[in-house]
Parts: sequence; structure tokens; C-alpha cells
Amino acid sequence: MNYILKKEDFPKFLELLKKKFGKVIVPAKNETGATCFQSYSGQELFLESRTDFSAKEFFRPAKEKMFSFKKKSSSFEVKSEHDNTKKVLFGIRPCGTHALSTLDELFIKFLGEDNFYSDKRKNTIIIALQCNEACENGFCTSMGTSQASGHDLLFIERGHDFFVRAETKQGTDLLDPTLFKHTSDAEPSSKIECKNELDIEGLGENLYANFNHSVWKEESERCLSCTSCTQSCPTCYCYTSNDEFVFGSGTESERFRVLDSCQLQRFTKVSGNHVFRPSREGRLRQFVLHKFSYYKKYHGMHLCVGCGRCITACPVKISLVDIANKIQKHPLEFQKHSLEAKK
Ligand code: SF4
Ligand code: SF4
Repeated sequence: MNYILKKEDFPKFLELLKKKFGKVIVPAKNETGATCFQSYSGQELFLESRTDFSAKEFFRPAKEKMFSFKKKSSSFEVKSEHDNTKKVLFGIRPCGTHALSTLDELFIKFLGEDNFYSDKRKNTIIIALQCNEACENGFCTSMGTSQASGHDLLFIERGHDFFVRAETKQGTDLLDPTLFKHTSDAEPSSKIECKNELDIEGLGENLYANFNHSVWKEESERCLSCTSCTQSCPTCYCYTSNDEFVFGSGTESERFRVLDSCQLQRFTKVSGNHVFRPSREGRLRQFVLHKFSYYKKYHGMHLCVGCGRCITACPVKISLVDIANKIQKHPLEFQKHSLEAKK
């Protein structure tokens, strides 16, 4: 069923959601000027394009308290942390909805239910916002993620209105009849064209077959291991855990899980100080192969939704699209033949 919401009524809609659910998450600028998702409190929204930081922070936060434990006379008291509050997330882009599906695959289906993740997912109503044009460095059209999936409502900007498509009952239940009017108008076109293109035909197998391609070394020579790529990525999920003393308590600690990064040397450090991936070349290759090769092999989907954030965030302009395209166009066999031809 399709509806129209006048843009002038949009703030009223957000206020209604806030009144009903308490927490509405929206895209907006933070105090540094970066765009991210944050709780709505009347601030101006950022609706021009996808945000610099993804909505992952509300499902798999960079630092998440799991539980606290307190020493008693002869035992420990453990208190688990769970976020079961109902929320609405507005303004996630189509690539973001696909990013959540890739995380669902791991944290709900494959590993069994990870309650820290699944509770938040189940209690969050998703309102996606269609992109009218491609964002900087995005390649969602190549990854098949330019149309939203798994959401409850879809908003499409149309002049002075939003055209709204309801996908689920809980989405339809949000459509207050004083604001939303049913329409039989045709849905506005949501076709976009990305400048960045990636040929994904046989990509995973081809990248893996080119494990020793020279591009890994060439590109990684300028990598700073800064982890901006993995931190900005909506699908990177690797984490480590830390215990922290509750300052001044003497008997209480808290356990957090914290996003980690395959771009750090210590990521593969084991006892005896052995590091399995000591070179930047190996770590960059791991990032790209995990995205396009390994996850696809074991889960049937890429671990990349083509949002382009890692490319925008990289201070030395390393692009996984450029790397993959170089290998797709000039695989090892081709390189070997060209070298032989030069002899
Ligand atoms: S690897 Fe890069 S382009 Fe792909 S989802 Fe992550 S940040 Fe986006
Ligand atoms: S953002 Fe760029 S420089 Fe930083 S770790 Fe990633 S690839 Fe290396």
C-alpha cells in the first residue's frame, strides 16, 4: 500500500514516533560536522545522502557493555546488560538495510542468536530512505544493494512530498491517518547510477586465485594501518573484549566488547608473540578477501554492500573497488603473459 506525507508534516510525524516509542534514531550532523545516526531531539536532519558513519552503532556499537560482575564474600554476582527498548530508525539508506541483513546472517542465523544484537534488531522498526542519486564512492548498483530490503517502511522524496511504501504491518501501524494519505500514484523512479563500478562476476573466486597478485603489495605500501576502513564499514564486525574495573568500587568490574580491526598487527597476535599476518600486504588482502570472497563462500552473500565509506575514510585513497577491478581486468595469468611478451 502506498501513501503520501507532505514534507511540512514530517516533523509532526517524528514527534508522534517519539511520543509513542520514546526513542527515534535519525541521520544528523554531530558536533564535529560528521554525519551519523543519533537520537532525535528536534535537531536538523541530514537527508542529502548516506551518513559518514553507519547505523551499525545502534546494533553493534563500537563499545558495548555486556555484563558487570561483583565479588561477594564467597561468590560473584553477575548482571547482564540487554537493550530491549522499542525504537524507530529513520533514514537508513538501501545499502544500510542490506548491511543489517549481512550482520543478521552471522549474529542471528549462523552463530545462533547473539542476544545483544538480536534484541536490538527485533525491537527496532526500520524506515528506509531511498537515494535519489549515487553518493561519493558508492557502488551499490554493482553490489545489487541500491534498493532497500528488510525494512518496514520506505520513504522516497518527491518534490514537496514523501512517497511512502508500507512493507509490514508494524510499518503500516505507524502511518497516522491525519498525516498520511493513501495514493494510487505510480511510485517515483528510484534508479540511480554509480560512477564507481565493479564487475562482481566470479569476483570471489578470482580474487582468491590471485592471492599472490602484485596489486596487494603495490596498494598496501601506502597503508597506514589506521583502521579507518574497518571502523567506518557497516558490515565489519570483528571484536575483542575488555574487562574494566569500576573505579573506586574495589570489587566490581564490567565486560565490554569492542570493535577490533584486521588492519592491526596485533589482531592476529597469539601467545609466544607470534603474529599470523605481520605484513600490511597480508592485512589489506584479508580485508578485501573477507568482503568479496570468504563471506560469499561460507554465507552466500558478500560482506560488502558498496556504500563506499571505507574508500572515503581512507586517508591515503586505497580503494577496494580499484584493487578488485585491477585483478578482474589483469589477473595473474594476464600479468604472466604480459611479462613474457616483454621478454
Ligand atoms: S567494505 Fe567499504 S564499501 Fe563495502 S560495506 Fe564496508 S565500508 Fe562499505
Ligand atoms: S583506511 Fe586506508 S590507510 Fe587506514 S588501514 Fe584502511 S586501507 Fe590502510
